[in-house]
Amino acid sequence: MEGKPFNTAKIVKGMFCLDCGWPIVHICCNDGMGQIDPYCTWDYWAYCSNKTCVNHVGQGWDQEDPSFSFRQP
Ligand SMILES: [Zn+2]
Repeated sequence: MEGKPFNTAKIVKGMFCLDCGWPIVHICCNDGMGQIDPYCTWDYWAYCSNKTCVNHVGQGWDQEDPSFSFRQP
């Protein structure tokens, strides 16, 4: 196994979940997303880092911030 490039996944600075306040994770979602959603066309995905949060499943991320997120300096 070879490690992925370091920017494959990151915690988004200053972005948090509206439902629980945990940091939001931004990932490149090429690998394996077709097994979750065969019609997935997203290049990037966002999800709450809180494993027990309803937003842990996340959503595709284009230009708009995820609907379950807010930004705080
Ligand atoms: Zn959350």
